[in-house]
Amino acid sequence: MLLHDTVRSQAAQRPDAVALVSQRQTITYQQLEEWSNQLARLLLESGCRHGDRVGLLMPKSIQAIVAMVATLKAGCIYVPMDTASPPARQAKIVNSCEHACILAVNSASRLLAGISSELSNCNFRIGWLDSGPAAESNLDAAFIWDDLASMPAHPILCDTKPEDVAHILFTSGSTGVPKGVMITHANAAHFIQWANRYFGTLPTDRISCHPPLHFDLSTFDVWGTLNAGAELHLVSPELSLLPHKLAAFIRDSELTQWFSVPSVLKYMAQFDVVRQDDFPALKRLLWCGEALPVPTLMYFMRRLPAVSFTNLYGPTETTIASSYYTIPSCPPDEQSEIPIGLPCAGEQLHVLDEFLQPIPRGEIGDLYISGQGLSPGYWRDRQKTDSVFIQHADLGRIYKTGDLARLGPDRLVYLLGRADSQIKSRGFRIELGEIETALNSLGILRECAVVGVQTGGFEGTAICCAYAPTPGLQVTPADLRERLMQLVPPYMMPAYWLAFDALPLNPNGKIDKPRLRESFAAQSVA
Ligand code: AMP
Repeated sequence: MLLHDTVRSQAAQRPDAVALVSQRQTITYQQLEEWSNQLARLLLESGCRHGDRVGLLMPKSIQAIVAMVATLKAGCIYVPMDTASPPARQAKIVNSCEHACILAVNSASRLLAGISSELSNCNFRIGWLDSGPAAESNLDAAFIWDDLASMPAHPILCDTKPEDVAHILFTSGSTGVPKGVMITHANAAHFIQWANRYFGTLPTDRISCHPPLHFDLSTFDVWGTLNAGAELHLVSPELSLLPHKLAAFIRDSELTQWFSVPSVLKYMAQFDVVRQDDFPALKRLLWCGEALPVPTLMYFMRRLPAVSFTNLYGPTETTIASSYYTIPSCPPDEQSEIPIGLPCAGEQLHVLDEFLQPIPRGEIGDLYISGQGLSPGYWRDRQKTDSVFIQHADLGRIYKTGDLARLGPDRLVYLLGRADSQIKSRGFRIELGEIETALNSLGILRECAVVGVQTGGFEGTAICCAYAPTPGLQVTPADLRERLMQLVPPYMMPAYWLAFDALPLNPNGKIDKPRLRESFAAQSVA
């Protein structure tokens, strides 16, 4: 199955059914089919060729989803870009992908100008999915949204194959360069077909799209909904900060499926915005990306007894999710352990020791995944790909997740944390090494260490930075914050800072990170 073919078949069967809803704007499957055909033609006319990368520099919107579908119809690969990320970081992505085209909107024109000025040569064309930038900007305009009307709206033939890359999702990289995870049509289609079967998704479903489009969870929302011929309701990012409004949105939109990272759910529970038997249309609530704290789960399960609750687990590298666990009944107490469950069809989970041998049930080991969701690897990074996508003599190609796990007596898999310094903060996946690399590049620190400290708040893990200035320099957290803002997105900004003359070392002479974590915890971070 090719992802974009689902739009054509839904438009043929149910042209007037609503496909996308965003605030007061609604479009049908027929409109989505026609606009995406027209935009695909504009991309081809502007010189995009099979396998070219097309950047999407715009917030989540109906236009952005039309752009995703159109890019695939043109035989290209879409690369969603984070409009909150600074130009220097975005430029690394554009440089590595060599975008043939960037589809942007007016509100991103300053960011785009910033990205262009970071690059030595900009060979990409720019298509504006609105009226285009102000005349005085020096930005190119290969086409604007109104040009769609001049293009034929009938289907385009392209020779894309299921094993071709559909999109590249960039995640934090420990060496300071974001890693581009390549996801093929077959990878995403496999999960979507399994999930729509498992959850019994129907054309009458109204499904949330909460994460930004550069998060892999949104891949399920978008393509899963279109595949089922259901309605996709885009949740505007501001709502995540307003739990009452978020609850009202779920209620008023009569959503039947909610899928998000746990931090949003924690926030809603913290402000107690869910009424008894609220959201009468809601059938299922799914989360992924982090463990949902048991008290939050208990809160939701007690308030919403008619809803089913499913924990999905998986890294971007294995496409959306690789395992699932539908909670059979409300946990009896807050100490209950929630497993990540069983592999989704076509996936396998393996708990292995350091020699890549299976370990006995109940013991802790490294979690590896094999199966249909495995990405072909990182974009143009053979070394990183080979370091985590491993050929195993018995299991075939396996991906090292970096998670620690054990197999329970119930044959379900339980997660026990990370074996490395990757954290989740408010649902964002962050390599602490990326923040350290950025801080070290400022040239004003003798040394620094960034650690994650677990908090009781909705953000999950707090990012804490300990630093020692270059001798003779006065460096304040405000100085560091201001400079770091130019290099990393806001969600990577440390929330707590501690200055030292020299960082504490452990007996092996390495920076003593456990001690630093204790120091931050003692400062009531947690
Ligand atoms: P991402 O690539 O952003 O999806 O992050 C993948 C990582 O998030 C995994 O390797 C886990 O460490 C964590 N993760 C994902 N899903 C869950 C879950 N359901 N429970 C606990 N941790 C999770």
